[in-house]
Amino acid sequence: MNILVINCGSSSLKYQLIRMEDEFVLAKGSVTRIGIMGSELVHKPSNKEVYDIKTPIKTHGVAIRLVLQALFDKDHGVIESEKDIACVGHRVLHGGTKYRAAAFVNEDVKNIIKSHIELGPLHNPANLIGIDACEHNLSGVPNAAVFDTGYGTTMEPKAYLYAIPREYYDKYHVRRFGFHGTSHSYVSKRTMELVGLNRDNCKIIVCHLGNGSSISATQDGNCVDTSMGLTPLEGLPMGTRSGDLDPAILEYICRREKKSIQDMLYILNHKSGVFGLSNGLSSDFRDLRAAAERGDRVAAETLDVFAYRIIKYIGAYAAAMNGVDAITLTGGIGENATWLRPMIFDNLRYLGVKMDLEKMENTVGKEMIISAPDSKVTVSVIPTNEELAIARECKRLLEETK
Ligand code: ADP
Repeated sequence: MNILVINCGSSSLKYQLIRMEDEFVLAKGSVTRIGIMGSELVHKPSNKEVYDIKTPIKTHGVAIRLVLQALFDKDHGVIESEKDIACVGHRVLHGGTKYRAAAFVNEDVKNIIKSHIELGPLHNPANLIGIDACEHNLSGVPNAAVFDTGYGTTMEPKAYLYAIPREYYDKYHVRRFGFHGTSHSYVSKRTMELVGLNRDNCKIIVCHLGNGSSISATQDGNCVDTSMGLTPLEGLPMGTRSGDLDPAILEYICRREKKSIQDMLYILNHKSGVFGLSNGLSSDFRDLRAAAERGDRVAAETLDVFAYRIIKYIGAYAAAMNGVDAITLTGGIGENATWLRPMIFDNLRYLGVKMDLEKMENTVGKEMIISAPDSKVTVSVIPTNEELAIARECKRLLEETK
């Protein structure tokens, strides 16, 4: 059984075709700059040469047709036709709280995605276009949606309610949803397996640290809290997103700088985070680390803010769960930035965290427990694999409905 996983962004599309019997990636690739000058398809079949074409790609529909051609091609393809695809799994950003797990696309699912466009203006429209394009080009192949907000649906009101007039929750469903759900779900499950924790009796904190960053608390297999909120703007400082701040700052800067709320939201989403804090030096943590090592005080301070806020979230979630058995790092920064680890874990000795220095300093991009055997909390690095998590969800859905 092969499952095609599609992740449509506003101007890009990433895909993986996974053979589920052995979870082998038959091919993966991306289409970038859709609808912009310089569009490109990069197709990486397993055991074959990379196939790369630069051609105008005006819409996501055209992009999907190109991806299918590449998958079916006799030279660089890996399957013969759509008959070799059991299901297409679409990563969908915002689906509110109705769907916790993968759902076959029907009118209700499409309406849910449409009704959350306001909260996911860049992704939800692209996700819908991706679904439509697959429906048109792969007749007879079922499409399933896997929502980034799905994992957060198990939170209790005390975790998801904001302390604002309740009518805004009642009327507009203003609440914490949480994002990166497939990653938090996958990594927390892998943590249970790696550390040997029992699903019904475990407390896990997952730090997904990438260009977008979020932290989740999972107790007894269910998400009990997570740092992103109504939108992916809340929580940790990110590449360009501010994360948590005093809401009064918005009005204060608007007044001082004669800006509108829309201007401010643009700034908070695209010009803030470590990019903004470093005076526009970079949103990439590799650049910031290199600058800090050269003695750049602003870059060093920016990284301190990032690490400090992670420490605070871990403390908050350990308190919320009345303890923590395991803390896991994932995402581009979590998996690779070895220098960040002492900045965080030196401050968690009060929890009984004891690191294995050699493993902490040398584990890059692979699964590994990096705490010492006698640490009270097991710290691990687990590379996230959102595509595989989506494909597994689709497989389960197909098997359930057989
Ligand atoms: P996304 O949220 O786009 O999926 P990723 O999880 O791929 O992001 O993470 C991308 C980020 O990871 C980059 O912005 C970069 O700052 C960081 N990163 C990647 N490799 C390293 C590294 N070796 N050291 C530090 N940071 C890294």
